[in-house]
Amino acid sequence: MKFNPASKIQDLQYFGEFGGVNPSISDSSTYTFLSAKTMFDTFEGNTDGCHLYTRHTSPSNLYLGEALAAMEHTETANVSASGMGAITSTLLQLCNAGDHIVSSRTIYGGTYAFLKNFAPKLNVQTSFVDITKLDVVEAAITKNTKVIYCESISNPLLEIADIKGLAAIAKKHNLKLIVDNTFSPLILSPIKLGADVVIHSLTKFINGSSDTVGGVTCASQEFIDATRSVNDGAAMLLGPTMDSFRASSILKNLRTLHIRMKQHSKNALYLAEKFKNDGIKTVYPGLEDHPSHHILKSQMNADYGFGGMLTIDVGSLEKANELMELMQRKNLGYLAVSLGFYKTLFSAPGSSTSSEIPEDEQTEMGLSDGLIRFSIGLDDDIERTYTMMKACMTELNVL
Ligand SMILES: *Cc1c(COP(=O)(O)O)cnc(C)c1O
Repeated sequence: MKFNPASKIQDLQYFGEFGGVNPSISDSSTYTFLSAKTMFDTFEGNTDGCHLYTRHTSPSNLYLGEALAAMEHTETANVSASGMGAITSTLLQLCNAGDHIVSSRTIYGGTYAFLKNFAPKLNVQTSFVDITKLDVVEAAITKNTKVIYCESISNPLLEIADIKGLAAIAKKHNLKLIVDNTFSPLILSPIKLGADVVIHSLTKFINGSSDTVGGVTCASQEFIDATRSVNDGAAMLLGPTMDSFRASSILKNLRTLHIRMKQHSKNALYLAEKFKNDGIKTVYPGLEDHPSHHILKSQMNADYGFGGMLTIDVGSLEKANELMELMQRKNLGYLAVSLGFYKTLFSAPGSSTSSEIPEDEQTEMGLSDGLIRFSIGLDDDIERTYTMMKACMTELNVL
């Protein structure tokens, strides 16, 4: 039977403490013990089902972690206060001073800045490579390499990682393959393809209502226990703890993720095909002419489409800004960073979410000035949206 990540979420059963259909929210930072011995054992990490202190675990956070682990087919998961909290604590758990990371060069700006500017302070060095070229990835591995890091569908250029190919390289060299799956929840199941750790920014599609930040690391029980260790666990000691109220609200939103992803994907494919036919430079993984379309097609769970993200290139930053301002005035979406909202969001990544990347490096990786990144919304009548967007483009002579 094919793996169906949405059914894995649906199949979980929770009851609140009074029989509520949603689990009760744990409104405590600390927990009592009936015996001092149990408290000691919990400190040592030996007592299942007991909670010590919320930075360590809380019932609400464990419920959300359990659902995300089911979705990503891992033994367990640790939720955190933001995607960056998940990324940094995972990498710092895996890497010691002197270690080396091979990372995709087209990644989220914050992750790029962390690896490029912050991790070197701890003598953790990173080589940034074109992740679509497996020979280049392998050639960048040194005797100190511990991790291969990539995004399943990359931000903002929508490059596709060949997760199976990267997993084979990671296995061969005894490295951990970490995949940031933020752009393609449900669409890709990286663990099924051989990855070791999957990370999400829950801020985006998974929560879907642009009202909070959040993150998760999905991995083996052994790895998650290590990150939560009171002695040397990065998640425990760096403290990127999610609040229980947020964990509870994200869990409720997670349950409609499959319906939302299908609509985001349907709308994005419709617009991408129209824009392309109109002669606009359009990048969307669902288009046949996307360089990694077939790799994605062969690795994805087919039911959720090719995702809600697309980019167009309108030639210059000036034109991009004019178009985005006009589209916002016409209420076609918001000029805002982030993604996965019910409304379309658009931004020019070169001057916003990827501005951490120096200009010459932006040019080298194909991140042009006129690029607009769209997170396509849940519009019920996408034909109407297209007609109105086209009118904006015509008015500004972009077409
Ligand atoms: C937004 C984002 C992050 C960072 O997540 P936060 O929740 O903002 O900390 C990491 N990776 C990707 C791909 C993202 O889009």
